[in-house]
Amino acid sequence: MGKPTGFLEFDRVDNGKRDPLERVGDWNEFLVQIGDQDLQTQGSRCMDCGIPFCHTGQLIGNLATGCPVNNLIPEWNHLVYQGKWREALDRLHLTNNFPEFTGRVCPAPCEGSCVLGINESPVTIKSIERTIVDRGFENGWIVPRMPREQSGQTVAVIGSGPAGLAAADMLNQAGHRVTVFERDDQIGGLLMYGIPNMKLDKSIVQRRLDLLEKEGIEFQTGVNVGDNLSADEVKNKFDAIVICVGATKPRDLKIPGRSLNGIHFAMDYLRGSTSSLLKGEAVEISAEGKNVVVIGGGDTGTDCVGTAIRQGCKSVVNLEIVTRPPKERADSNPWPQWPLIFRTDYGHSEAAAKFGKDPRQFAMETIEFVADNNWNLTGLNTTQVDWSVERPGVAPFSRVEGSETTIPADLVFLALGFLGPDPMLTDQFGLETGPRSNILANTNDYETSQPGIFAAGDCRRGQSLVVWAIREGRQAAEVCSQYLASLA
Ligand SMILES: Cc1cc2nc3c(=O)[nH]c(=O)nc-3n(C[C@H](O)[C@H](O)[C@H](O)COP(=O)(O)OP(=O)(O)OC[C@H]3O[C@@H](n4cnc5c(N)ncnc54)[C@H](O)[C@@H]3O)c2cc1C
Ligand code: SF4
Repeated sequence: MGKPTGFLEFDRVDNGKRDPLERVGDWNEFLVQIGDQDLQTQGSRCMDCGIPFCHTGQLIGNLATGCPVNNLIPEWNHLVYQGKWREALDRLHLTNNFPEFTGRVCPAPCEGSCVLGINESPVTIKSIERTIVDRGFENGWIVPRMPREQSGQTVAVIGSGPAGLAAADMLNQAGHRVTVFERDDQIGGLLMYGIPNMKLDKSIVQRRLDLLEKEGIEFQTGVNVGDNLSADEVKNKFDAIVICVGATKPRDLKIPGRSLNGIHFAMDYLRGSTSSLLKGEAVEISAEGKNVVVIGGGDTGTDCVGTAIRQGCKSVVNLEIVTRPPKERADSNPWPQWPLIFRTDYGHSEAAAKFGKDPRQFAMETIEFVADNNWNLTGLNTTQVDWSVERPGVAPFSRVEGSETTIPADLVFLALGFLGPDPMLTDQFGLETGPRSNILANTNDYETSQPGIFAAGDCRRGQSLVVWAIREGRQAAEVCSQYLASLA
């Protein structure tokens, strides 16, 4: 235990954030790291509980409880308190392949389950994680690790998001020859082309990719398996296959006016924005000078808000169909579950600073899109909804009479979630899928309906988080290795 009285002596201090009005003028990361000395003090707040819920990684009541990769949090908190940063880094890498990603973008279910959080502010776990790994890179402690043995067996990993990268890393270290196929022009999945720069700078992603490549993993971009490389070719060439293709099919909003000019899926917008920044090219969809409405909340909605503001939009509104969450945990959402409370993410703070109010409007349904004579979007007709009265067979809510409004809009981004992987790939491999089109495989063996073909990440579990993708990639790699051993 760091310091037996640390949690009594010191208050929680978290990462700082750059001033919203300053940071919307660039695409640099908005989090500001706190100093090492302060973090050592924060590490001392850890109580090293008998049962540290922070690292359980379980679903309780379908909500994440504790760290999904089972990071050894109390151990590295203790080491950080003692100033043993290198040892802390070794502990961190035991459970997490990419702490520099989670230390930036993870919502930190660990902190929601921290025992100190029952009646105090939880330990600032995520900031400590990020600093351990950033320090590791700064000090040159993170260098390529060449696999000690070679099995002579080959594995194809399809998809290069965090699940695919974690699986590839584990399989490569286990001595197998790994090739990662990615249909896009960059490796990284949503780490590269989903989560924007201000949350995760792309040089941070590239730094890890360079290491993995040096360690022997082969990356091939522009290979759309099922299209320009057939499933049969992959099956014939490799001893095992791990599919990590994400849940990339966006949910649509099929209401009158959907085909008007100016309505886009959020990912088309965000991908285009990051791609233009990486390549120094003009952006295809620009929010500059436009009235923007983002339909749907979550990370994707917030990222659209933050991106539109950086591009110089005239106004931004974020519509949510759900009601505003409570300020404090509800009785039905006790510790150590992930707290379902009202949070203000970076994009919301930026909109508030720039335009004077939080962009979110809760319990709002869009009924139709409206346009001018040239089919260009001019606005949305909306209504408020009441979740206490359902419309049987139609929706779990009803419309509030007399609450109809028109919101002016030149651009709409649909951030309504994702429906599963592209069926072209699953059909070609002959994989069974579930009711939401995710690939069927359980978390005991991650094996699909086809032997020797494993699935992990969003394509299996549905739209989720980076940390869950890393966990699934690690676990699928382990069972894939066992399968390969059974062939040898
Ligand atoms: C805009 C946005 C913001 C997000 N922000 C956060 C956040 O802040 N924190 C967080 O924890 N999570 C966040 N998420 C969720 C997180 O990014 C995902 O849960 C995670 O990336 C899933 O990892 P994955 O490896 O399963 O799939 P992905 O990251 O989706 O990667 C799948 C890859 O497979 C490739 N692929 C698909 N089909 C084929 C094929 N046939 N052949 C070859 N390649 C193929 C795709 O091009 C893609 O690169 C966000 C998601 C979005 C959309
Ligand atoms: S990966 Fe996420 S849940 Fe795990 S310790 Fe880091 S911030 Fe917490």
